[in-house]
Amino acid sequence: VDTVIRNGIIVTASDIYRADVAISDGVISTIGHTIEPTSATEIDATGCYVIPGGIDVHTHLETPSFGAVSVDDFLTGTRAAAWGGTTTIIDFCPQEHGKSLTDALDEWHRHATGNAAVDYGFHSIVVDPSPVVLEELRHLPAQGIPTFKIFLAYRGMSMVDDLALARIMDIACESGAMVMVHAENGDVVYHRQRTLLAQGHTEPKYHAVSRPPRVEAEATARAIALAELSGASLYIVHVSCQEALEEVRRGRERGVKVWAETCPQYLFTSEEDLDRPDFEGAKYVFTPPPRHRHNQAALWQALADGTLQVISSDHSPWNFRGHKDLGRDDFTKIPNGGHGIEERLMLTYQGVEQGFLTLSRFVDITATSPAKIFGLYPKKGTIAIGSDADLVLWDPQAELTLSSQSHHSALDYSMYEGLSIRGVPRTVLLRGTPIISNRNLAATEPRGEFLSRILAKC
Ligand SMILES: [Zn+2]
Repeated sequence: VDTVIRNGIIVTASDIYRADVAISDGVISTIGHTIEPTSATEIDATGCYVIPGGIDVHTHLETPSFGAVSVDDFLTGTRAAAWGGTTTIIDFCPQEHGKSLTDALDEWHRHATGNAAVDYGFHSIVVDPSPVVLEELRHLPAQGIPTFKIFLAYRGMSMVDDLALARIMDIACESGAMVMVHAENGDVVYHRQRTLLAQGHTEPKYHAVSRPPRVEAEATARAIALAELSGASLYIVHVSCQEALEEVRRGRERGVKVWAETCPQYLFTSEEDLDRPDFEGAKYVFTPPPRHRHNQAALWQALADGTLQVISSDHSPWNFRGHKDLGRDDFTKIPNGGHGIEERLMLTYQGVEQGFLTLSRFVDITATSPAKIFGLYPKKGTIAIGSDADLVLWDPQAELTLSSQSHHSALDYSMYEGLSIRGVPRTVLLRGTPIISNRNLAATEPRGEFLSRILAKC
């Protein structure tokens, strides 16, 4: 035994109980009340919940877009994740037009190797589905990458058509992969953007006007219908509104293999933020856009009742100065993206504080369900003998005021500036070794490893 965590309350997606945890070689070796005193490192978890490390299945580190690169690399991004209680991320690896998926994945391995503070996997984004690339896709699950993402949005950049989506779904089904879809109707968004700009509407708030809820709901319904026809497993990223939730709910009721996530920004920001003065609305330009407030309650409800299974961050950080600035005269040129790799668990926990979520549901949507859906369970996402000792000592009484002054992302602003929250990760262990210890950085050397993932065959 290397480490024993004593006096905590263990919370999993199914249970809450008092027990101590012993860790050997980075793995949980005993859970019980009778772990003898040893020479092992003792960690006192009095007053804390002991929860599985968070799993963030939607991040964009060091990613080129809008002629720039998102501001967190694997070093700063994964360190921020650890500060927030996340011990595994799955980052999106985008194909470049005319290049292979393998080239892109090789580059992503170079980004991450030796730089990641937490464990990581990759999803492959297909933007240019040529016959060669489609053939390549079949072999990705064998390389530990069983999740393919496509965009139905971003016409002229990364959007693919329904023919490509149908083909990719069949390939996913045959090769044991799942298709992830950014669901917005890119043609309609493009049309509305051109119309708004022609009318002289250039400010950030028109970002939301150009892509209203029905644009998202239509593409969500279409992706679900195609999955139903193909038999493929489908995951809808960043569901933002009631209209799209209704489509997910209908699909699941029909027995379609569809899962879906939302992100904290849809629970804590609204379209009013896009109208902040002095161009500050640009800080809230992410896609889908922040919605009318009434959607927040609908999303909390969907997280609670299982319509949504996961909360991810969609961490895609662009500085206010130097990046968001690019769209001062044209909202379509504002780099799309927000942040949340550090804040995700803390913000979601406010749902427990406010009575929207049970403690076990909080663990389920931040760790357990992501592990199950994305092929990491039971190595990750739970507290069980034989699972990796990725553990968070969660202090439910500790309070924190969120700010760009104190966050660990390289981003030059916070969407949550001044927001006070209760419930903070005090100590964070990756495979038994603290990364964060009593709110101090413990590990200086990044020791995150690539996670090869396998899904159950479609
Ligand atoms: Zn994203």
